[in-house]
Amino acid sequence: MPTIELPEQPTSVLEPIAPLTAVAPDLTDITLDDDDGLMVRPPWWSQTLTFLFIVVPFLGLIAAIYTLWGVGFSWLHLSLLLGGYILTGLGVTVGFHRLFTHKSFETGPVMTAVWGILGSMSAEGPLLKWVANHRRHHQHSDRDHDPHSPHLHGAGILARIKGAIHAHMGWFFAAEPADNARYVADLRSDPLVRTISNLFPLWVALGLLIPAGIAGAVTGTWTGALLGLLWGGLARLLLVHHVTWSINSACHLWGTRTFRSHDHSRNNAVFGVLAFGEGWHNNHHAFPTSARHGLRWWEFDASYLVIRGLEVVGLARKLRIPSRERMAAKLNRPTARH
Ligand SMILES: [Zn+2]
Ligand SMILES: [Zn+2]
Repeated sequence: MPTIELPEQPTSVLEPIAPLTAVAPDLTDITLDDDDGLMVRPPWWSQTLTFLFIVVPFLGLIAAIYTLWGVGFSWLHLSLLLGGYILTGLGVTVGFHRLFTHKSFETGPVMTAVWGILGSMSAEGPLLKWVANHRRHHQHSDRDHDPHSPHLHGAGILARIKGAIHAHMGWFFAAEPADNARYVADLRSDPLVRTISNLFPLWVALGLLIPAGIAGAVTGTWTGALLGLLWGGLARLLLVHHVTWSINSACHLWGTRTFRSHDHSRNNAVFGVLAFGEGWHNNHHAFPTSARHGLRWWEFDASYLVIRGLEVVGLARKLRIPSRERMAAKLNRPTARH
């Protein structure tokens, strides 16, 4: 049995919730009143599309394995799968999350477009919707109105399983506040960001067609193009989706708590590596605007290395990193627990 401690404390002993403005001072134009309770279920076609984006990549992976059975798996397909995973995964972690949601660094319009488009290619929803949901998660983390907490589904093993499934992907089908857009008032006023968000279907299509085109051009066959679509498109989506979703599920269930935060966020080394640093999720909830999530030297954070690299070549600036004093003040001391 692993020694990982599952969170048991009721929400009443958690620290008081911090307003988003306290952790993201730049986001002062976001209205932070409690939700008014008006919830709107997405239309049937939206839920159907969400369901398809969960199921079709699985079918794609099965189809790819079946097609390649006995034929082999070439370097080309491996490159498309891993290259696509790295580029679109970083699009979510560096772009959607650290740049757009938390404004943990600044960059120019070209980099803004690049990160916005790469993140959109991960097919996790339009940029503005993704950011709104994630800001809502931070404001209400593991409490009522958190869109994807695994902890609000009652006690017992079945409730835990139900909570984990909800946090992983069940929440896509749940109602969301009618005024969810209020979380992204700052981004909606930027025409570039708004345009990228509105063109979401185009970016998803390109994310599927580009690997198909590359593989088709290299092999000169339609079968080659199809395999490019399967490995660089659908199988890549499968990996990016489940690794990203694991931050919402696994990283609020399993791992360590280095810092005090008003939720059940955990540092999980597996997803620290697989999700390019996002698995240091307790660090992130303690210091949401930090461009660096892996705060100790051994906490590998590929997204931060990319951001630092961009800074070195002049493509990123004003990186936010918590001071040693702030980190020391928030350390989670076992004796301080209730
Ligand atoms: Zn979280
Ligand atoms: Zn965040």
